[in-house]
Amino acid sequence: MNEHPTREQLLDWDRRHYWHAFTQMADYEPLVIERAEGCRLYDIDGRSYLDGASSMWCNIHGHRHPRIDAAVREQLERVAHCTSLGMGSDTSVRLARRLADLAPGNLEHVFFSSDGSSAVEVALKMAFQYWRQCATPQPKKTKYIALAEAYHGDTIGSASVGGIARFHAIFEPLLFDVIRVPIADPRRLPTLSPVAATAHFLNELEAALQAHQEEVAALVIEPLVQCAAGMIMHPPGYLAGVRELTKRYGVLLITDEIAVGMGRTGTLFACDQEKVVPDFLCLGKGLSGGYLPLAATLTNNDTYKAFLGEFHQARTLHHGHSFSGNPLACAAALATLDVFQEEQTLQNLPAKIARLADHLCRLAEHPHVAATRQRGLIGAFELTPNKSAGLPYPATERRAWRVCREALAHGVWLRPLADVLYVMPPLAISTEDIDFLMETLADAIDLITK
Ligand code: PMP
Repeated sequence: MNEHPTREQLLDWDRRHYWHAFTQMADYEPLVIERAEGCRLYDIDGRSYLDGASSMWCNIHGHRHPRIDAAVREQLERVAHCTSLGMGSDTSVRLARRLADLAPGNLEHVFFSSDGSSAVEVALKMAFQYWRQCATPQPKKTKYIALAEAYHGDTIGSASVGGIARFHAIFEPLLFDVIRVPIADPRRLPTLSPVAATAHFLNELEAALQAHQEEVAALVIEPLVQCAAGMIMHPPGYLAGVRELTKRYGVLLITDEIAVGMGRTGTLFACDQEKVVPDFLCLGKGLSGGYLPLAATLTNNDTYKAFLGEFHQARTLHHGHSFSGNPLACAAALATLDVFQEEQTLQNLPAKIARLADHLCRLAEHPHVAATRQRGLIGAFELTPNKSAGLPYPATERRAWRVCREALAHGVWLRPLADVLYVMPPLAISTEDIDFLMETLADAIDLITK
């Protein structure tokens, strides 16, 4: 075994052996990261890249944060892993308690898993089983409502509630049927005010609820921003309206905050912005500060109670993962929450959000930039050859992808969502680095749309 491969070997092995996620390997150009610090990643050639998409929406307080590093090390001195089946670590117990305290309303029971897709699967299964075991069982409730262009993960259940054709269409024969409501994208209704658009979208949802309430177990939604769909931002009031309607029609509400939770939209949870308390709240990605695989499904006592009983009644939730509630990941999560307090992360966000808004405002003037939008520290837009016609460039030109390649050459790592360009930096980013990120992006756009 060669313990110290050369640079060339690493690049060769990467191409030959490492099948990367969501990557067309035929045109994969290796990028091998050796280390990171704060908001920067460093490759094996020592080149640095600003982590403009938080290592796929995971990183919160920066890489190698001394507080989080120390917490993981301290945990490693005690135990790296023990199961969550019938036992658990003190660290995982403390995290469950902490999340129960922080979560909206009465979400006091925490089921851990290792990734976002699993957290959604857990919520789907809990909702299904709940209706069989609750005080007044309704076993006909076996279906789910989801939004068009939703994304909830890649396992079969979470992909079933997903609705992005380029990810999910090929697997359709494997997926279960879902009741699909139109996406709450204000751009569908350009002539309406945001308030009127919200009312329209809620009417569409109510029609589906009226038609299907008896068979629907739960509605699943990415609150405020449908990230994978292309950072589609719902109009104000929509989430609160969804909560009200689901309650009225006896449908459980699952909010998938895997991407938008942990401060991304400006508040710790996206639900906080519309004072919404869902029946299930799914967290992942930033939960561990983006350090280690950890996800959680939170629910209330009414749900939890439906799973209690004598052993022979078989009311147990038969679901779990080997690394559910892994103590190292939970230690990173507890430290992440500590850093939120110690560094006043949420309190410091408004200035950064305003700085990003300034840049987006400037970009909106660009002749080839359309539909700039922002929620918290997430900013997005499309490229267009003709602003007044609002047309996209032909997909085959891969303009957004080329902009990202260009930005990479100038020290910024970004990844487009089809034609959509977006930034979603760690919350720890400085205003100077927001300037660097957005100026590099603007220069790349100039070049690629010339
Ligand atoms: N839900 C949402 C909203 C997501 O954005 C993602 C991942 N991008 C997931 C679920 C799936 O999470 P994971 O990749 O950790 O399985």
